[in-house]
Amino acid sequence: MMDTLVSLCKRRGFIFQSSEIYGGLNSCWDYGPLGVELKNNIKRFWWRSMTQLRDDIVGIDASILMHPQVWVASGHVEQFTDPLVDCKSCKQRSRGDEVKDGKCPHCGSREITSPRLFNLMFKTHMGPVEDESAIVYLRPETAQGIYVNFQNVLNPSRQKLPFGIAQIGKAFRNEISPGNFIFRMREFEQMEMQFFVKPGTDMEWLDQWKTARLAWYGDLGLNPAKLRLHQHQNKELAHYAKDAYDIEYEFPFGWKELEGIHNRTDYDLSRHQKHSGKDLSYFDDEKNERYIPYIIETSAGVDRTLLTCLVDAYHEEEVRGEKRVVLKLHPRIAPMKAGIFPLVKRDGMPELARKVAHELRSHMPVFYDETGSVGRRYRRQDEAGTPFGITIDSQTLQDETVTIRDRDTMTQERAKISDLAGILQKRIYG
Ligand code: ATP
Repeated sequence: MMDTLVSLCKRRGFIFQSSEIYGGLNSCWDYGPLGVELKNNIKRFWWRSMTQLRDDIVGIDASILMHPQVWVASGHVEQFTDPLVDCKSCKQRSRGDEVKDGKCPHCGSREITSPRLFNLMFKTHMGPVEDESAIVYLRPETAQGIYVNFQNVLNPSRQKLPFGIAQIGKAFRNEISPGNFIFRMREFEQMEMQFFVKPGTDMEWLDQWKTARLAWYGDLGLNPAKLRLHQHQNKELAHYAKDAYDIEYEFPFGWKELEGIHNRTDYDLSRHQKHSGKDLSYFDDEKNERYIPYIIETSAGVDRTLLTCLVDAYHEEEVRGEKRVVLKLHPRIAPMKAGIFPLVKRDGMPELARKVAHELRSHMPVFYDETGSVGRRYRRQDEAGTPFGITIDSQTLQDETVTIRDRDTMTQERAKISDLAGILQKRIYG
């Protein structure tokens, strides 16, 4: 199924291998015309529900390169490592946890090295001199940009605890075993929100956020039966975490993490306070108390969410003896909202269809197509996940009505052109 999806993504212009004409760059991917629309829709939906629909979360956009001390304070320089194992027989590298019973996961040989720790941060140099003092890292998570800006955001936003800061942006990890298409990449995008709370209320907030975030994936249109929460056991807990949950989805390759929800305690702000020498405490003027806030983090991957939407939406059906491939994406995130088709290329139908497309475009992205049989045009839009097909036929010329075809049920109904934008908007955005 994954191979079928990868080829559909290439064929329809969702996702391409990075630098493909040079043979590709392992674990880096480019989004094409439909892919970038889908990705933007997912990000917009997250941003809206996490910031614009609430009064207790604000957004930022921090830079990817940060002061190198940030990564010392955060623990990444010391601890953001994976055990790396080399196979002497097939020369492949694996992550320590992939090695079972002392055997190479690629060829089964027992001729493997003992694990050595490998830091996953990408290093580069700032300025013209490539010495130790010029080292900077490409951020492996967006969270640190939020912690170091805690005081900067607190004052101008006039927020009081509890409140959150949200950010969407690129992160980089030099993963030992990337793969499964865009599931594990070396360059990816995160949607993270850090919620600052009073110590003692942290477990309550962790509970609230795990429920809210699980519900968000349902609103995104994912099948709830394929979603679950997994609580980290002691040995899985990261060095900063008191308690943690993963939201997992059942992929064709098993249940895997989509998002992490962590109780990070006061670890991050305390560490940055210590390393920067700046006061990062919070003063509660009603209670006359000063403390370092605890942080509940919700950390999701944009690309991984997008992959999940594609996997969840992919359907093959048999219609009148023919295979129909359809992406049943939620209309809200579908890249194109409607395909606009003149039934035939004469009698003024293309002109009228172009006019309909032009009018709809100011409300939503639509795609005009007049080539091939209308059945084939429907099929192409089914594969692209377009929820509605609008056909202009001979009746349209008489009474200004068109047919609206529903992607999932394939049923058709007639509606007036003047009502079209309203009808579609209601079905797409609710
Ligand atoms: P994993 O165990 O899969 O490596 P993680 O526990 O290291 O993930 P976090 O550090 O909690 O992941 O990152 C938060 C989210 O960022 C993940 O749930 C995932 O959606 C996304 N993410 C992390 N690493 C990658 C990656 N290499 N490629 C794509 N998305 C990623």
